[in-house]
Amino acid sequence: MAGVQEGANLELDVTLESVTEGVLVTATVTAPVTGECARCLEPVAQTMQVWCRELFSYEQGSGSYEQAGGDAAEDGYSLDGDLLDLEPVLRDALVPALPLAPLCRDDCPGLCAECGVLLAQAGPEHGHERAVDPRWAGLQQRMTTQAEPAGSPGPEKREESGRGRP
Ligand SMILES: [Zn+2]
Ligand SMILES: [Zn+2]
Repeated sequence: MAGVQEGANLELDVTLESVTEGVLVTATVTAPVTGECARCLEPVAQTMQVWCRELFSYEQGSGSYEQAGGDAAEDGYSLDGDLLDLEPVLRDALVPALPLAPLCRDDCPGLCAECGVLLAQAGPEHGHERAVDPRWAGLQQRMTTQAEPAGSPGPEKREESGRGRP
């Protein structure tokens, strides 16, 4: 529902610390997040900030690296010579922090359940008559009557059986 657009500018505050095993990276990332409001489907743009700390270990000898097989990458990040690729770290930090249901605003009223209009634009006076249109009332009554076969149990019993598992 939401994501960080490709090519978006990220604000980074990075601290690199040299430790015995490698380089400890501490980063605060501020990223623009775009998506659709979970209630009204209007575009949403907000910023999010995540904090992460990862160790980039010195590259192991090629021998031991190969022995470890494909699982080596799962142990964590490693330095590529003198290079440190922050991208996977940022992605791993940002993706789980993305809002699952972003809202254009906290009190977004969403869409009208009856007609699908944007309630934020339609205004508070927007509404639908609860009463059934008189032209349909007769038809509805007839359908209700037809749905009940003669000698069927009363409405209470019907409700009980209807509450079973979906
Ligand atoms: Zn909304
Ligand atoms: Zn409506």
